[in-house]
Amino acid sequence: MSEVADLDLAERARKLFAGPIAFLKSAPGLQFLPDPEAPEIAFAGRSNVGKSSLLNALTNRNGLARTSNTPGRTQELNFFDVGEPLQLRLVDMPGYGFAEAPKDLVRRWRHLVNDYLRGRPVLKRTLVLVDSRHGLKDVDREVMRMLDDAAVSYHIVLTKGDKVKPSALGGLFETTLVEAAKHPAAHPAIFTTSSETGSGIAELRTAILEAATT
Ligand code: GDP
Repeated sequence: MSEVADLDLAERARKLFAGPIAFLKSAPGLQFLPDPEAPEIAFAGRSNVGKSSLLNALTNRNGLARTSNTPGRTQELNFFDVGEPLQLRLVDMPGYGFAEAPKDLVRRWRHLVNDYLRGRPVLKRTLVLVDSRHGLKDVDREVMRMLDDAAVSYHIVLTKGDKVKPSALGGLFETTLVEAAKHPAAHPAIFTTSSETGSGIAELRTAILEAATT
């Protein structure tokens, strides 16, 4: 892409995320999904990875995505409409990997997410959020394999970048790149974000718009 086109996309992304964004609905099962009227970008990550904070930072509002202090209780896909007229939808997937999760809850998560990933042609990309302090865990790798199997392209996003030293963050970035390259559906672009300082947020907005429009 040319530099001019790049700038244009970044500016359009900035405007889009500064404009109307609204919660549409929660879907506890596939029968409750909204009509597939717009490209969808889904957010996945371990509980407490900073998913709600990232959604709020991306959309520039507090409390759009509610942070829950009872990890694993909500087993719903939450849909947010972005743009008026509608341009794309953000889909907040339930967090995974919480400690001591009852087996049937894990099974329900798997069914809900797998059914959604496999049966949703409007799903353009998933963002797999990984805490910069911890790096990829086996549960993340499992989700990456689910995405590989469903052929849903995904970006890894290293969250809470402000919590680690730049040198450590650089190292994590490199090792994550190497590991992602072994996964067929992993997109080569990896992002580092901080919902606290805003770093990486504009770049992620641009990537979301690009995924939705290509
Ligand atoms: P979720 O469970 O994935 O939705 O995670 P939350 O967004 O609720 O975040 C979990 C905790 O991490 C909260 O205490 C947040 O304030 C904190 N947090 C989230 N993102 C960041 C970040 O970018 N930087 C810092 N320093 N803290 C963060």
